[in-house]
Amino acid sequence: MDTYRCDILIVGGGIAGLWTANRLLQAGWNVLLLESVALGAVQTLASQGIMHSGVKYGIDGSNREIAQQLKTLPPRWMDCLAGKGELDLSTVKVLSPDQYLWSRDRLVGGFTSSMAGKAMQGEVEDVPKERWPEVLKANPPSGSLYAVKEAILDIQSVVQSLAKPLRGRAIIGQITKFHTSDKGVDALEVSIAGGQMIRLEAGAFVFTAGEGNEQAAVALGFGMEVTQRRPLRMVLAKGLPQPVYGHCVTTSPKPRATITSHPYEGKWVWYLGGEIAEKGAAMSDADTLKRAKSEMESIFPSLNWNDVEWACFAVDRAEPRDPKSQLPPEPRLLARGNSIIAWPTKLVYAPLLADQVMKSLPALGLQPTAPGDFSQLPAAEVGQLPWQQSLQWIRL
Ligand SMILES: Cc1cc2nc3c(=O)[nH]c(=O)nc-3n(C[C@H](O)[C@H](O)[C@H](O)COP(=O)(O)OP(=O)(O)OC[C@H]3O[C@@H](n4cnc5c(N)ncnc54)[C@H](O)[C@@H]3O)c2cc1C
Repeated sequence: MDTYRCDILIVGGGIAGLWTANRLLQAGWNVLLLESVALGAVQTLASQGIMHSGVKYGIDGSNREIAQQLKTLPPRWMDCLAGKGELDLSTVKVLSPDQYLWSRDRLVGGFTSSMAGKAMQGEVEDVPKERWPEVLKANPPSGSLYAVKEAILDIQSVVQSLAKPLRGRAIIGQITKFHTSDKGVDALEVSIAGGQMIRLEAGAFVFTAGEGNEQAAVALGFGMEVTQRRPLRMVLAKGLPQPVYGHCVTTSPKPRATITSHPYEGKWVWYLGGEIAEKGAAMSDADTLKRAKSEMESIFPSLNWNDVEWACFAVDRAEPRDPKSQLPPEPRLLARGNSIIAWPTKLVYAPLLADQVMKSLPALGLQPTAPGDFSQLPAAEVGQLPWQQSLQWIRL
């Protein structure tokens, strides 16, 4: 079995692994990234690409901690998008520079007063009617329409940008065995293309594998109890004439629907999360789609929903378990010896997670070594967005 050695092995090429690997590479470390499916494959490419600034979490006064934390992150991303940040995301497509918050219900006093306060502080803008997007003019909110400066990114272009500097250092393979000791992980045995086995050794191992972190947590002796999954069934509606971005809210802390729009086949795919996906997690595909259509007919009655094609798929948010809250408030790292298990808990938190990984390295007493040659190993490719995959589209 051939052995390859690097300073830091990142396991998992979602947003957390890609961001961290780029930062480590810039800092001069000999980094290798191991991915088992495709770069961005699971949560990252399934995400809605929203640069949350915390406004959504502050509406009902709960989750204030998350709202405060989140405020600091979008500016770091914006710098990267402008080509003057810690990483170069200047080729990333911004689908929308902001998104809307609105309600179709009459009894939303908490929402209205919270938004009025945020408008006073300049966190949201009460948009005058003449500037409402066509689709909301035709399907007006029950009250004001608020705009939030939260960009929506084309997440595949984010993954492509982050994959570029890692060419020759992001490989595809499946872990078949962990070699562990009281120092953490000594080596991983990995199966690569053609059934060949290789051994990967590193000064430090950073697991950013989303649901794959469960396997690492067990191997490192933390057990499954440090992890949790929160299931969703995301819905796609294909063939819409116009885009819309935002949350249609009710009195519940969860939006009734969170909608992002993505150009596809000459029209738009509306990608539906919020309560549509949360409630759908406990329903069949057919019932999820039926409920989603009825929600969309109620929120956007002027649109012709009979010409739209529908699909859905299940995806879990893979997170650290928080003893106090079902919703983990921040990125989390667990360290044992030379190994770190890390969860960003949100796309937008990836820069903070990378900071935390970088800060924990000096304690390991490692020194950067010369860049290794991993060119004989199979390269990991960028994965596909949900609507680019083979889904079962139906008309309802
Ligand atoms: C439907 C949905 C919508 C979301 N929308 C947003 C949003 O709009 N804004 C936001 O900020 N956050 C959002 N999130 C949260 C955000 O997407 C996640 O927190 C983030 O993508 C997690 O990134 P990650 O890199 O930790 O995990 P992942 O993206 O899941 O990446 C893990 C990677 O590790 C690989 N892997 C797994 N096991 C192994 C193994 N054994 N060996 C090697 N590789 C392995 C996987 O194939 C995958 O590529 C959303 C999440 C979901 C599910």
